[in-house]
Amino acid sequence: MTRDYRQLRDPNAEYTMRDLSSEAMGVTDSRGARDVEITDIQTTMVDGNFPWTLVRVYTDAGVVGTGEAYWGAGVPELIDRMTPFIVGENPLDVDRLYEHLVQKMSGEGSVEGVTVTAISGIEVALHDLAGTLLDVPAYQLLGGKYRDEVRVYCDCHTEQEADPAACADEAERVVDELGYDALKFDLDVPSGLEKDRANRHLRPGEIRHKEAIVREVTERVKDRADVAFDCHWTFSKNSADRLADALEEYDVWWLEDPVPPENLDVQAAVTEATTTPIAAGENRYRVTEHRRLLEQQAVDIVAPDMPKVGGMRETRTIADVANQYYVPVAMHNVSSPVATMASAHVGAAIPNALAVEFHSYELDWWSDLVNESVIEDGYVTVSEEPGLGVTLDMDAVAEHMVEGETLFDEG
Ligand SMILES: [Mg+2]
Repeated sequence: MTRDYRQLRDPNAEYTMRDLSSEAMGVTDSRGARDVEITDIQTTMVDGNFPWTLVRVYTDAGVVGTGEAYWGAGVPELIDRMTPFIVGENPLDVDRLYEHLVQKMSGEGSVEGVTVTAISGIEVALHDLAGTLLDVPAYQLLGGKYRDEVRVYCDCHTEQEADPAACADEAERVVDELGYDALKFDLDVPSGLEKDRANRHLRPGEIRHKEAIVREVTERVKDRADVAFDCHWTFSKNSADRLADALEEYDVWWLEDPVPPENLDVQAAVTEATTTPIAAGENRYRVTEHRRLLEQQAVDIVAPDMPKVGGMRETRTIADVANQYYVPVAMHNVSSPVATMASAHVGAAIPNALAVEFHSYELDWWSDLVNESVIEDGYVTVSEEPGLGVTLDMDAVAEHMVEGETLFDEG
């Protein structure tokens, strides 16, 4: 059964929440080339190593904005649900439209979660659209440039993920053959010594096994690459402390998500107890949740996912808050070239950008999805073209669409 989410009743129309539409706000003054209205929003899901949700925002000026939302069930439906709320609006009012969507969806859970993800995809497309209409690159809309190139770190995998020597071999290959000087490996890999996965406790041998992976990888690419290690919220407080302590003698770029994300007091205590840099943030939403993380000094590095956290301006604002606490930003990213370039625009425009992740080096058609080259020699050169500066290769999109999806109707 196919549901039409655009036909759902809008409860906010009856229980007036804060209505930030142009009509309610009396916003009328865009003129000339800036007199543009949104006519439609469409999505298509591409079957990458994650199901990427590509977003297209159409206008009566014939200009289209392309964006991308972080993956997740329900994202295309939520975008359909929200489309009527901004059809007829001027796409240049990016910030107001973002807040308008948050308000419109507030009764349906827009404080965090998948609704914020869906809004993020629209917000990225609005930046592409606004930049194109104003003939400026998207980073200009965020305040201009700190840097021409944004460093990319490569998330690495090997089939022998628990073999320290195999991890070191892969690190060396990615540095030598693919040209990255920044890497990340998973550290929540089985050692064979686990007794009980549910209790989060690391036995001494498990700590030594993880330490061996870190030692072999960091020693192999020492002086040639920074290496981070990801724990995916796996360990108990005490196990995280012992692991971080054991890694202090190695030059770890950062240790990511050693403890579960819900308890900020524990997160802060783990970070406080070690000189190993601790990173977290990819499963937190909007500025509010990152503000708490930063106020409690619970991270040494903050890791928002731009097309999930609220979009380009929200990530810029998170970076501003992080900067108040002298914390750098390493953007989590598992997206297609569209959101990767959009994250790089944010990285260009914030002082404290450390890097943007690349999570698809095993996918040989990743770069085919757009006509432009996005990552070269471990960096994104931020586009100087209007908007995001990437154009979808519709043949590649069609070739890699999730089964049952239809291509954008550009007619
Ligand atoms: Mg992670």
